[in-house]
Amino acid sequence: MTESASQALYGGIEAGGTKFNCIIASGPDHIAAEARFPTTTPQETLAQVITFFKDTRLPLKAIGIASFGPVDPDPASPTFGYITSTPKLAWQNTDFAGAIRCALSLPIAFDTDVNAAAFGEYTWGAARGLRTFVYYTIGTGIGGGGMVEGRLMHGLIHPEMGHMRLPHDRARDPFAGVCPFHGDCFEGLASGPAIAQRWGADPKTLPPAHDAWRLEAHYIALAMVNTVCMLSPQRIILGGGVMEQTFLFPMIQNEVQRLLNGYINHGAILERIEDYIVPPALGGRAGALGAVALAQNLAAAMHAQET
Ligand code: ZN
Repeated sequence: MTESASQALYGGIEAGGTKFNCIIASGPDHIAAEARFPTTTPQETLAQVITFFKDTRLPLKAIGIASFGPVDPDPASPTFGYITSTPKLAWQNTDFAGAIRCALSLPIAFDTDVNAAAFGEYTWGAARGLRTFVYYTIGTGIGGGGMVEGRLMHGLIHPEMGHMRLPHDRARDPFAGVCPFHGDCFEGLASGPAIAQRWGADPKTLPPAHDAWRLEAHYIALAMVNTVCMLSPQRIILGGGVMEQTFLFPMIQNEVQRLLNGYINHGAILERIEDYIVPPALGGRAGALGAVALAQNLAAAMHAQET
């Protein structure tokens, strides 16, 4: 990449359930502008996003969108770039990518928030040099994405790792779960709202020794064991609001080792699990910078096609 290409600016939009993070950058070390808007209605929030990009008057090569979902990430589909069957009713069937493309006349890269964050970590962060890895966000909701053999995971639609079913011992934890579709799936049992409802307290106020965290580490570890057995990732990155309780990392690492019981015979899990289950290197900007990385990748692919 030439010096001028590495300094070219891209837009990134991380669309979350409570806020939109917008960024203009060429990478984590060169951020030209940033803004946040609350997630209200598509009309209001997308208008604020479009105004932000127009007002900065910076020349952008492309824009990446990292969206909450479910979304349609298939460029060949007539509803590519739509938010589809989301439980956030105002956002159902919203042509997100189309609205941004129309207003700003730029190429648009579009993927799930977790695939984008995974791609950001692959480009600049904790997944550099890896071919197969998984990124989870554990917060208001739970989502997972990542790469297999160097390609972002898509498929029929896209993975929904947050809704995997976990063994639920109702004697230990009678809580029915908060997922409107499944009750006690991973998100239903272990998202921030699940912790808050089960214990009747804001999770941030629960001390590290509280039983809530042992149970939380157990559920997250069960999901990580399923992930290890299903995809054999070279690393798992855990981000999101719940994982800001960093004491959870050693609890999860120990519980994963206990549950796997020596079956996956690799030093990464048996001896170096603290380098195997890790926080995102890009921190709270993983999603927005991931969207920038998607935009950069799209522009490079378009350039390669032209030449
Ligand atoms: Zn669910």
